[in-house]
Amino acid sequence: MTVIIANWKMNKGLEGSLDFAADLHNLINKKAVNCQVVLCPSFPYLYVVSKIISDGLIKLGAQDCSFKESGAYTGDVSASMLKDSGCDYVILGHSERRIYHNETSPVIKQKAEKAHLYGLTTIICVGETSLEKEKGQTFTVIEDQLKNSLPLSLSEENIIIAYEPVWAIGTGKNPSVREINKVHAHIKDFVKDFTKLHGLLLEKDVKIVYGGSVNPNNCKEILSIANVNGLLVGGASLVSEDFYNILIKA
Ligand code: PEP
Repeated sequence: MTVIIANWKMNKGLEGSLDFAADLHNLINKKAVNCQVVLCPSFPYLYVVSKIISDGLIKLGAQDCSFKESGAYTGDVSASMLKDSGCDYVILGHSERRIYHNETSPVIKQKAEKAHLYGLTTIICVGETSLEKEKGQTFTVIEDQLKNSLPLSLSEENIIIAYEPVWAIGTGKNPSVREINKVHAHIKDFVKDFTKLHGLLLEKDVKIVYGGSVNPNNCKEILSIANVNGLLVGGASLVSEDFYNILIKA
């Protein structure tokens, strides 16, 4: 099933998070959508939002988790805490974490291992910067990110890869349909080789979602691309009606 993920980043307070969750839940309750919906609020609101969406129509995700199990890691939030708070998903390795928190792929791999221990599905983000794109390095950058961040605990159920070109995030720019198609096909082949190399037998392909300036006007075309199994939406996920307008096109 197509999966559509709302990444609210560091937006919305308590009231805004609760209002959005309730509005979206009502909209989906009235007219069902044909996709798995995942909301990713900020840490402090996960538990309260989980209470509004507890019937499972909408799933809950966090935007990060710790690479450690527990202990003296001030400011960190563990995978088990996310599970306790009602999460089924966690976004890992978003470019904003790689850039502002110097997160490296090996650390993302450790985070994913911890998340899998607690039954969370990890949404692992990869993507090239504009400079890397200009230099023709898109494939090598993505391969390096995948090689070093994919954990051996991966399965077709517990991992989603998000292709998010850094230059497309929050800029209103998108790669062409052909470019998205090429990169997603490349990721799919890479994951097949990776799992074979490590003796992992997957029955289905891992889902690959696209993220970067998706909105209600361009989502249908992007979703129609082969190997695009869903969307990771930032800016256009902040208003419940806009986000619902994306969901109904899936
Ligand atoms: C994101 O940050 O994951 C994202 C896709 O943002 P936007 O949709 O605003 O480009």
